[in-house]
Amino acid sequence: MHYCQNCGAEIESNQKVCSLCGYNLGKKESDSDEDAGITEIDPKILRSEMLKQLKKARASAFSPWMAIVPIAFFIVFFGFVLLIILITRG
Ligand SMILES: [Zn+2]
Repeated sequence: MHYCQNCGAEIESNQKVCSLCGYNLGKKESDSDEDAGITEIDPKILRSEMLKQLKKARASAFSPWMAIVPIAFFIVFFGFVLLIILITRG
């Protein structure tokens, strides 16, 4: 059994408005809506955090490459230069 929070009258579970005072009894619905809103917001926050972490992971994964690629390029370039010098010197 439910009772009106305003006047205390007995209310059926499917009743949305108190028949005596007209008090809005949709609090359960509003609570569920709030819960739904929270559950809707949480995945978004989680997604944004996941995206941030992914971006950070990508940045941390890219930074070594950005350092290794020029070094490897220089090594190959200097190797070619050395080869050319050795060949030209005979
Ligand atoms: Zn009432």
